[in-house]
Amino acid sequence: MSLTSTFRLSLISAALALAGCASQAAGPSTAAAPAATAPMAAMPASAKPHVVVLATGGTIAGAGASAMNSATYSAAKVPVDKLLAGLPELGNIAKVSGEQVFQIASESFTNDHLLKLAQRVSQLAKQADVDGIVITHGTDTLAETAYFLSLTVHTDKPIAVVGSMRPGTALSADGALNLVNAVTVAASKDAKGKGVFVTMNDEINTARDVNKDINIQTAAFQSQWGPLGMVVEGKNYWFRAPVKRHTNQSEFNIDSITALPQVDIVYAYGNVQPTAVNALVAGGAKAIVHAGTGNGSVADRMVKPLQDARAKGTVIVRASRVPYGFVLRNAEQPDDKYDWVVAHDLRPEKARILTMLALAKGASTQELQRMFWEY
Ligand code: ASP
Repeated sequence: MSLTSTFRLSLISAALALAGCASQAAGPSTAAAPAATAPMAAMPASAKPHVVVLATGGTIAGAGASAMNSATYSAAKVPVDKLLAGLPELGNIAKVSGEQVFQIASESFTNDHLLKLAQRVSQLAKQADVDGIVITHGTDTLAETAYFLSLTVHTDKPIAVVGSMRPGTALSADGALNLVNAVTVAASKDAKGKGVFVTMNDEINTARDVNKDINIQTAAFQSQWGPLGMVVEGKNYWFRAPVKRHTNQSEFNIDSITALPQVDIVYAYGNVQPTAVNALVAGGAKAIVHAGTGNGSVADRMVKPLQDARAKGTVIVRASRVPYGFVLRNAEQPDDKYDWVVAHDLRPEKARILTMLALAKGASTQELQRMFWEY
């Protein structure tokens, strides 16, 4: 039986065993305490690398009512021990153990989830008996979590974040191979020191650059600067290395972060009004990421409200709602004059992550701008 069939059948039985859970709505259940580690199928007690899979939910743990349901299903239903049991091939790559950290759809992630997950990843990375870490995650906010981990976990051990676009119960489900590829990367010596990866659709992308760009196809994750490499039949093929600071070179460290400040995003569009900016400032936002049009452009009627917000102490970050390219400092707006910051090529949601970490350290706007160039 093929790997995909094995995985799918296992998930179908897992879904059935969950007593009709596929027909229930995927509620944003809250974090569960890490479950006991579930060891994988028998393997020779040799020098195989040890990879820990931290499961957080998402479609890779989803279940639909029928094999035709590739888009209509419940996310975050199948527990990690069932996911791993459905893939005995993993045992040929590494000694794999699993922990259920959360069981949620990733659109329901909060800052609290980010902190708890990164703290657990950091603990595991310090363990001498752990060689690599995989995080299974919903695809919606996967890129944000991967970037957060790459900025805050100090390790040279490979960390791979992975999801799937189809639940394991669907025809041509993509989770099985994505997970095999994630474990392959996390178990590899040649991935050491290269930071945090996203392994979807046979590609290895760096956490910083990758984004979910398509919401209904398996080739959903793209980096505008290209993938680092590919995984084919259990082997990594590298073509690039990340040049931005991450993991061991980062000035942020999850071991000393206990809370994140409120940073929000305002989206620009024709006829936009200052209502959202004013409400966020009144609501205590420490920074606002302005997802501007074009090169981070700001409508004439929005300039004064953003200047006023800055005068009250709120940091203003100019990003763009355009997915590709990058925002130039002092081009569309006089950032030096207004004491605004530009997000470079980071999408607004990733600019939010970096801004939260910078402000948690008490960074000035000058330091924050440097961070946008360096991370
Ligand atoms: N909404 C789901 C999630 O992010 C989608 C997915 O996993 O693909 O959890």
